[in-house]
Amino acid sequence: MNTTIDNGRPSAQKVADAFLVPRDLGPTLFVEAGSANLRNADGSAVREMNDAIYEALGAVHPDAIGGQVLLKVHVGEPRCITRMNPAYMESSVRFAREHGASGVAAGDTTVAYTGPRGHRENPMGDASTYVRLARRYGWSTESDAGIPFVVLDRPSTAVPGQFEFRQEQQQNELSGIGRFKDFYLAGGFAAADFVINHAHLTLHGLAGLAGCVKSIAMGCSALRGKMRMHQSLLPHFDAELCTRCGRCVESCPEGALHLCDDDPCPVVDPELCIGCGECEAVCALGKGAITLQAEDITDWQRGQETLPLRMSDYTIGLMNGRWENTIHVLHMYSVTERCDCVNVAQEPMLKRDIGFLVGKNPFAIDQLAGRMLAQALRDEGRQLDEKVLHSARAAARHVEETHGLISETRLERIAAS
Ligand code: SF4
Ligand code: SF4
Repeated sequence: MNTTIDNGRPSAQKVADAFLVPRDLGPTLFVEAGSANLRNADGSAVREMNDAIYEALGAVHPDAIGGQVLLKVHVGEPRCITRMNPAYMESSVRFAREHGASGVAAGDTTVAYTGPRGHRENPMGDASTYVRLARRYGWSTESDAGIPFVVLDRPSTAVPGQFEFRQEQQQNELSGIGRFKDFYLAGGFAAADFVINHAHLTLHGLAGLAGCVKSIAMGCSALRGKMRMHQSLLPHFDAELCTRCGRCVESCPEGALHLCDDDPCPVVDPELCIGCGECEAVCALGKGAITLQAEDITDWQRGQETLPLRMSDYTIGLMNGRWENTIHVLHMYSVTERCDCVNVAQEPMLKRDIGFLVGKNPFAIDQLAGRMLAQALRDEGRQLDEKVLHSARAAARHVEETHGLISETRLERIAAS
């Protein structure tokens, strides 16, 4: 391992590695909600549900854990009233401690847009805006979650002796995963010895369905990784330095650069550019006329068709070496038409809650969740937009075809007593 300077901050480690994807990650367990209203459940209903989740966690991972355990969670925006309920963390905390964890924390990353979870509103060294929001909704040692909350790309929020990390991000170089060559893990995610990825099921305007895959891809990557998935890094050219040699144009894997007679430098087509940085690297060997700069994401529709597949590839990269040490728990209650990152109060789509899915294959869980949501809506006389089912199916098919991971897994049921 060698320390590199990234974005001018000496806080990123660069790790070159080979990647490996298991073929089968075992069954998915379904903890049924029954007649329970999970969002507003009282003490005994929450306890019963936690006991069933605990049983599911043990069935999925019977082995010891050790080290520091991250419960990846989602705080949601201030006006969201259908957010993840921190009361359901008790089972994961108990499971982690009884299986040998040295420390447990809940955590989430800053986001690319504005708001109390925004990366600008929470600069390095001061993520107090985010931490205050999290505390307000039950994510702190003193409230429902009962464990500290850390901002995974802000080391200033690390908790000595319980959940420690020192980097904003870790860059892992891996080739052969779709169009990506490197993966930017949030420092806290990279430092976790074991992860329980708690995701809240919602629909999502761009991704189709927001579940376990999005929680890893967007929720556990550093800002640069999120930008990569949204294709928002673009090359900028210095006309003083550029000699119009054309090397960057030749090296661009997407054919996104063109040299025109009228322009002093190559011109980039932002619809084609994937922000891979190849042009910058090639030019750096000669003139150094290119810098890759993050554009503000203003057009969130950009790349809509391929975002689920890019998130799938990014998940494969982020999860490298972690498949056995990560359990995914999908919360299927208060399912809304838009995700919890939208700062509005929404009504749940379903009258009844579905429950929880627990397993080690995030693609299998999301695919099952899409089917369960469609069935639950049918039971209430409504239809799920085919686009939603398509995105989870396409992601599962994509990882099977390109990486060999099978997502048609066995489903086992656990009833809360
Ligand atoms: S490689 Fe550099 S110097 Fe050559 S055309 Fe591209 S930007 Fe200009
Ligand atoms: S960043 Fe990559 S895709 Fe974009 S112009 Fe440069 S080489 Fe092409």
